[in-house]
Amino acid sequence: MQNVKTEPWWKRRLEIFESGYIASEYQQPLLAFLGDTMKVELIDYTHNAFENIVRAARGCYGNEDKEMSYEENKNLIRAMINAEHSPIEFGEAIFYISGISRACANQLNRYRHTSQAQKSMRYTDSSKESFVHPISCLKISDACPDVVKTCTEFYNKLVKAGVPREDARYYLPMGMTTSLHLKCNFRELLHILRQRLDQHAQWEVRQVAQKMLNIARDNWPWLVEEFEV
Ligand SMILES: Cc1cc2nc3c(=O)[nH]c(=O)nc-3n(C[C@H](O)[C@H](O)[C@H](O)COP(=O)(O)OP(=O)(O)OC[C@H]3O[C@@H](n4cnc5c(N)ncnc54)[C@H](O)[C@@H]3O)c2cc1C
Repeated sequence: MQNVKTEPWWKRRLEIFESGYIASEYQQPLLAFLGDTMKVELIDYTHNAFENIVRAARGCYGNEDKEMSYEENKNLIRAMINAEHSPIEFGEAIFYISGISRACANQLNRYRHTSQAQKSMRYTDSSKESFVHPISCLKISDACPDVVKTCTEFYNKLVKAGVPREDARYYLPMGMTTSLHLKCNFRELLHILRQRLDQHAQWEVRQVAQKMLNIARDNWPWLVEEFEV
């Protein structure tokens, strides 16, 4: 009888992604054990941000109660953004970003003008997390999923033997998924988008930034006009 060798399931997924989803070297999709895990959700935001920003901007000139058209107000906000003035900070948003790798979260953690709260590896079981495989690695080696399995099995072994989770986690790879709440004002949001939508940023954090931009477009189109082509 012929020996039928079955391909690992993720190889088929890779083919599907490669058949059109990848637009460029920099826009690789996520490929996780449990599906595409990245999610960016808007939890809350300043509901009258437009009015708050306009009022703060006008207050600089001592005419905070002046009647102006929507277009004039929009132009005023645009001028504040271009001049990097502080009134734009009078709007803020809270995002919940989940299913991203720890490598990606590290990049977000660098923003000092954000407030963040990230899922603890002390209080949760990290072996239950998904894993984000860069396609560049999957293309080179079939062993990628096995390496992750070895690491998570070793982690479980350590925890079972009584090692605290916060010590056992040292043996887990950076591709393990995590989640975090991120709060920032609109000035910082624009800063993050400018840095992380740029083609020099890594593909995964660019996807996070793209999802944040989509949310901004839906809710505060007047804020993100600079990203429209
Ligand atoms: C493509 C790319 C590659 C990167 N590579 C590396 C790398 O190899 N190694 C590495 O360590 N990091 C790297 N980073 C991270 C980068 O250096 C920043 O730490 C990160 O992008 C956060 O930016 P930020 O400091 O401007 O943001 P925030 O911390 O949010 O600060 C926003 C702005 O506030 C001002 N500010 C904040 N704190 C201070 C301060 N203490 N003094 C003066 N002004 C301040 C600055 O104007 C700053 O731009 C990279 C980032 C990108 C986008």
